[in-house]
Amino acid sequence: MIILDGKIASQAIKEGLKNQVQSIINQGKRAPHLAAILVGNNGASETYVASKVKNCEEIGFESSLIRLESDVEETKLLEEIHQLNNDEKIDGILVQLPLPKHISEQKVIEAINPKKDVDGFHPVNVGKLVQGLETFIPATPYGIMLMLEHFDIPTKGKHAVVIGRSNIVGRPMSILLSSNTKRGNCTVTVCHSHTPNLNEICLQADIIVAALGKPEFVKADMVKNGAVVIDVGITRVEDATAKKGFRIKGDVAYAEVASKTSAITPVPGGVGLMTIAGLLKNTLQAYQNNNA
Ligand code: NAD
Repeated sequence: MIILDGKIASQAIKEGLKNQVQSIINQGKRAPHLAAILVGNNGASETYVASKVKNCEEIGFESSLIRLESDVEETKLLEEIHQLNNDEKIDGILVQLPLPKHISEQKVIEAINPKKDVDGFHPVNVGKLVQGLETFIPATPYGIMLMLEHFDIPTKGKHAVVIGRSNIVGRPMSILLSSNTKRGNCTVTVCHSHTPNLNEICLQADIIVAALGKPEFVKADMVKNGAVVIDVGITRVEDATAKKGFRIKGDVAYAEVASKTSAITPVPGGVGLMTIAGLLKNTLQAYQNNNA
């Protein structure tokens, strides 16, 4: 069994990006610039955005963090996006989700210029993904594909079961794994909250991608010997014995599942770090597209 260590894979990707940024700067050009908008003060969102900004700094990107109050009007947020769309020095824009209930996430996603949509959520970019055209792949599925590539996990002809069909993880993941690409060509089954016999379906999987947000949902009796298991879940579970008062749990019962697998991602230290690598790669791509 090998542990698909997100730290090792993401570090290798970030080293490559850092070198590319250095060579851009050596040519006297400006560095790529990512702008992040954070609405409110949700603890998990704060952590994610802080980590994205820190990673930008590490590899030499510029970054801006725009903070808005949780009761900000939707029009104000749309206006901020509009300004960033028109700012030539901003290459990538991300609005950290989820947003407060009074703001339409769909409207916000559609307000971002698709050329700066480094999260890959705009319908134009999703459409390109479906058609196999060059686009910004949503960061988490992109990170998973980069991980499969880094550890040279074969996918061709395999049966992949993706649990979850969200627009940000499950759905794009299923499209990527079924695409006619080097790390695609899987036969994909997409499972969701209305799927009966999930256990039996999972038992047929060569690759399981668990993205449902239910801590330790995937148990050993759902996993075939030798399967590859990718755990996307991140849930904060209260734990008085932990320093922060909670622990991060994945969607896979790692302790009982790991020994059955041929490869598995840990949580934390797996897919989360790869998500950031995917986002950084998209931002450099946006910069290159915008400066071509
Ligand atoms: P979501 O709530 O939008 O979607 C969950 C999906 O799981 C839905 O499609 C639902 O149908 C399905 N589902 C729910 N219960 C199910 C069940 N019992 N059986 C089968 N399917 C079921 O969640 P999301 O945004 O896709 O995120 C999923 C998880 O991944 C969350 O824990 C989230 O925090 C985590 N996440 C991690 C990263 C990362 O970087 N590692 C990034 C994004 C999301």
